[in-house]
Amino acid sequence: MPRIALIPGDGVGPEIMEAVIPVLETLADKHSMALETRLYDAGDETKERRGTALPRETFEGVRKADATLMVAVGETAKEVILPLRQKLDLYVNLRPAKAYPVPNAVKGFDVTIIRENTEGLYVKAGWSSRDVAVDLRIITRGGSERICRYGYKYARENGKRNVYVIHKANVLLGCKLFRDVCSSLAEEEGFSYRDMYVDAAAMRLAMDRPFDLIITPNMFGDILADLAAAYIGGLGMYPSGNIGDERAIFEPVHGTAPDIAGKGIANPMATLLSAAMMFKWLNYREAANDLEEAVWRACELGYTTPDVGGNMRTWEVCSSIRELLMS
Ligand code: ATP
Repeated sequence: MPRIALIPGDGVGPEIMEAVIPVLETLADKHSMALETRLYDAGDETKERRGTALPRETFEGVRKADATLMVAVGETAKEVILPLRQKLDLYVNLRPAKAYPVPNAVKGFDVTIIRENTEGLYVKAGWSSRDVAVDLRIITRGGSERICRYGYKYARENGKRNVYVIHKANVLLGCKLFRDVCSSLAEEEGFSYRDMYVDAAAMRLAMDRPFDLIITPNMFGDILADLAAAYIGGLGMYPSGNIGDERAIFEPVHGTAPDIAGKGIANPMATLLSAAMMFKWLNYREAANDLEEAVWRACELGYTTPDVGGNMRTWEVCSSIRELLMS
């Protein structure tokens, strides 16, 4: 019986989570999964109310759950998702940018970005004075090796052939280590080593996309992913997973979308696709595929929110997806 921790968070988070929960229940019934879900507080509103953005029971709930589905937290993201990634050692950020049939996506776009999730510029180490600010960028051999091995393994298991390591090794020492580690592992992992500088990769992502999977250090992955979002209809369509050896937190790539929060029009697809990734990770593959197919079908039929050309509200999209699952 999978125990799932649910974190709605702030902004569009609660309204998306409220609409998504019944879809999870329908899916669980259909596939005889005895899901046990529990909601947890985290984020800006939690901090205002309780003095901390990540209460102890939330951390423990995530730690003890089989997996977590989160929507988004606002200004306090660095007090919530960064410590969760670090403390639970969720060293993979898996971001599959795949175009679903929505009018503003580029047909056939399918690039998975695998971003190192615990090192690089996000270690939050540094110092500043009035005139100088220093951020430490830490890249280790061990950290590079495990993300690289995960990337090649994911490529093998998911039929990705054009794997590129993206870095800036001509300028940055950390990237040189990252590149050297990845290039020494490629052959052993069954791939010919290919790489590209991050600036060139940004252009090629927009042009001809010679890659279907990218392995890259933390910050480059963060930026390239938002660029990839532009080709799949925007952030409302982009799921992700923070994955470690034993635990994982799945969440849409988007933030709290304060400009549309409370209007009932937030796109729930990125959260639903993150849930599908979660079920796949939990080894409920049929349920995961079923949910992905229902999202695909809903997009084809135009059962979508305004950001991807539709005129439905968040809950209407989720009701349609439940009906598609039951049909
Ligand atoms: P935060 O400070 O929480 O990161 P943000 O506005 O900087 O918020 P996002 O929340 O990712 O960043 O939003 C970027 C843009 O994408 C906004 O215009 C937002 O409305 C849009 N967007 C994000 N998520 C969704 C969604 N689920 N449905 C529709 N539009 C979305």
